Amino acid sequence: MYYHSTRDRSCRVTAAEAIAWGISAEGGLFVPETLPELTAEKLQAMMGMTYAQKAEAVLGEFLTDFTAEELADCVRNAYTSEKFDTENIAGISRVGERDYLLELWHGPTCAFKDMALQLLPRLLTVSAAKTEPGREIVVLVATSGDTGKAALEGFRDVPGTRMLVFYPENGVSNMQKRQMTTQEGGNVSVCAIRGNFDDAQTGVKKIFTDPAILAKLAANNQKFSSANSINWGRLAPQIVYYIAAYTALAEQGEIRLGEVVNIAVPTGNFGNILAAYYAKKMGLPIGKLICASNRNRVLTDFIETGVYDRNREFYTTSSPSMDILISSNLERLLYDLSGEDEALIREWFGALSREGRYAVTPKVLECLRANFAGGSCDDAQTAETIGRIFREYGYLCDTHTAVAVKVNADYRRESGDLRKTIIASTASPYKFTADVLAAITANALPADDFAQMELLAKLTGTVPPASLLALRDKKVRFTGSVARDEMVSAVLAMLD
Ligand SMILES: *Cc1c(COP(=O)(O)O)cnc(C)c1O
Repeated sequence: MYYHSTRDRSCRVTAAEAIAWGISAEGGLFVPETLPELTAEKLQAMMGMTYAQKAEAVLGEFLTDFTAEELADCVRNAYTSEKFDTENIAGISRVGERDYLLELWHGPTCAFKDMALQLLPRLLTVSAAKTEPGREIVVLVATSGDTGKAALEGFRDVPGTRMLVFYPENGVSNMQKRQMTTQEGGNVSVCAIRGNFDDAQTGVKKIFTDPAILAKLAANNQKFSSANSINWGRLAPQIVYYIAAYTALAEQGEIRLGEVVNIAVPTGNFGNILAAYYAKKMGLPIGKLICASNRNRVLTDFIETGVYDRNREFYTTSSPSMDILISSNLERLLYDLSGEDEALIREWFGALSREGRYAVTPKVLECLRANFAGGSCDDAQTAETIGRIFREYGYLCDTHTAVAVKVNADYRRESGDLRKTIIASTASPYKFTADVLAAITANALPADDFAQMELLAKLTGTVPPASLLALRDKKVRFTGSVARDEMVSAVLAMLD
């Protein structure tokens, strides 16, 4: 299977090249030329397989330049019971009559990013060995919280890689900061910058083309790569869990094989829900894809009107991983919905970077609305939903997941569509303890993070993830911070 760029169809690469390079030279994203077909027989054959076996079956059709041994090695080392605290890797909890919460947060950092970032470093080292043999891969990440930690855990002690994460000194939660500053692993470092997330992001982009750094990389026989969500190596592993969940529900007798289900996803950069769309296109029986946003409802408006407009106020919400006004992976969807019209994509995404806005054609809007339903929910509704789901069903969900639960309930009521729904549950409630606690108790909260975790456990009878509890006794390895203009020297020092 080959991949081409959404902005230049003539650019044709292998899976290993797409993963090693991350993004195409002219700024487009790599997409598969055709999607493998998921026939009823293939679904049937997956019944009873372990998660890792299902992953091998699905990914084998996308990463055709990997040998079966290479892929098996990557997958089996990524999805293990040492890394994930549930045997199925992604657990499923039924809430009410027809909603299934697909818990994608049982990995080491307690957010769904682990599902892809436990595997990506392995795919990347195999890809780099094919495309850049003998070179060490250097990964830089600017993070506002979840991605940085998941990438650090994924890359820690992976041979042939080195990683540096920049985070805004005062722009992440206590727990997120603690997760990063105590990070273990001989090949990873973490650096706070005195600035905001945009400063970190801009700084990292500049470093990728800094002459002094590039000279040093060449001298060291090293090469930069990226671990952000536009890398195909992060998207492909996300297709797996929708197929795995569907077959798991059939195994449990919750659905019939062939029964059409909906999928609801709390959405930010549009990576997670795009993976569900690809699963649908491959033939997984999926009806509506329900795209749930928080108060930053740029996608809800887009699905309603066909106009994508980021010229609007940015809100900080209780679901921070969805506080985003530019959903990069939407480019892949629109490329597909427009019939792979690279000229239209160049026009729209050019307009987005110049004017912050574009309008799709009526035909594309029609296709969009045939597949997707959008909806949004504010912080008060998010808290209300956490409280209601806990009181009615004894099930505790995090703020991001609650957004999807609420938007899905609205969709079902308004549309009368009664199909069963898989709702992507993207983070452990203990990752956003303060907001989750406030949603279920009116009492004042203790200030200390660990006291809050204890209280949440006591009030709900749930168990905090061991990896978060363990942070209390972990030694802080990375202290101090650099100014924005010191990021280059921080990278040079790391490369020594
Ligand atoms: C990253 C993230 C999201 C958004 O996922 P996208 O793929 O960017 O749409 C939702 N919830 C949580 C907890 C996340 O970390």
